[in-house]
Amino acid sequence: QAEDGIRDRSPSRGLGDVYKRQIIDGKKISEDILNEIHLKVQERANQGLKIPHLAAILVGDDGPSETYVNSKIKACEKVGFSSSLFNYDKNISEEKLIHEIELINNNDDIDGFIVQLPLPSSINQNNILNSVNPNKDVDGFHPINYGKMTLGANSFIPATPYGILQLFQRYKIDLEGKKCLVIGRSQIVGRPISILLSQSNEFCNATVTLAHSRTIDLARHTLNSDVIISAIGKPEFLKAEMVKEGAIIVDVGISRVKDSSSKKGYRIVGDVDFKNVSKKASYITPVPGGVGPMTIAMLLSNTLEACKKND
Ligand code: NAD
Repeated sequence: QAEDGIRDRSPSRGLGDVYKRQIIDGKKISEDILNEIHLKVQERANQGLKIPHLAAILVGDDGPSETYVNSKIKACEKVGFSSSLFNYDKNISEEKLIHEIELINNNDDIDGFIVQLPLPSSINQNNILNSVNPNKDVDGFHPINYGKMTLGANSFIPATPYGILQLFQRYKIDLEGKKCLVIGRSQIVGRPISILLSQSNEFCNATVTLAHSRTIDLARHTLNSDVIISAIGKPEFLKAEMVKEGAIIVDVGISRVKDSSSKKGYRIVGDVDFKNVSKKASYITPVPGGVGPMTIAMLLSNTLEACKKND
């Protein structure tokens, strides 16, 4: 998808650096990762080792959550994992849900499991996440794993930030010294990716700013950034005039917007005005087909690691 070679004059790149505009193909990279996992599962089977088993807990009948869980289960089939879906009524009590989680914690056949978020408002999300066995917490949301991640210790990294790191690594985009703006401070995306990119790891070492709904004059920050990662869930919020020439753009947002020309009556768009921003960006992730498929691939990667720990 490379287009024209552009001579970049931004100070952080150095005068005269030439780069090509590239659309980051998360779908292709995620398929590569799923194929790698599939091969590892086959190797395990040949060696008589356990096949990884991922379970998902879904509470209620929220449409998008069901879709996400189903695509996770489908991906398990693709790589040869076992999978289970535990679907509970939206009126399940917090105590009962914690009891069900305890059963999964103690089920030796299940290597890793996720609790699909959001949960109904009657349930305290933190109490639920805290009840997951950290060794099976393949979403990386348990305070022990989150704390280890923050300290740079080995742990399960939440799947979406992990997917973003993989995109940088596999496209050999080194963020060292770059000014990186993360927009959105959620516990599952914005905050963890801001922590990870600032760490002293390969392809990271960025100078990170974390913006959120209370940030004043966001455009001043976006225009000053070499890298922008947007995770706010506002359709086409980031406009071309907010982005500097040659910026690297990662769009995490997933929003449904009405579209009568589509069979479903809606289409999926990201936080970024892709059509116009892509004309200025050096690298950009599309929606769909960017970060979304990476999230599932990295969840499965974490599940394989959880299984290996039990060998
Ligand atoms: P969230 O929805 O919990 O919170 C939104 C964040 O955006 C908040 O931190 C808020 O402060 C910030 N924000 C809102 N408006 C803002 C503004 N005008 N300026 C600056 N900051 C603003 O966050 P989330 O759960 O990370 O979800 C964000 C988006 O990412 C959603 O569209 C969600 O569907 C999507 N998402 C995608 C994936 C994926 O795999 N691609 C995974 C998780 C979430």
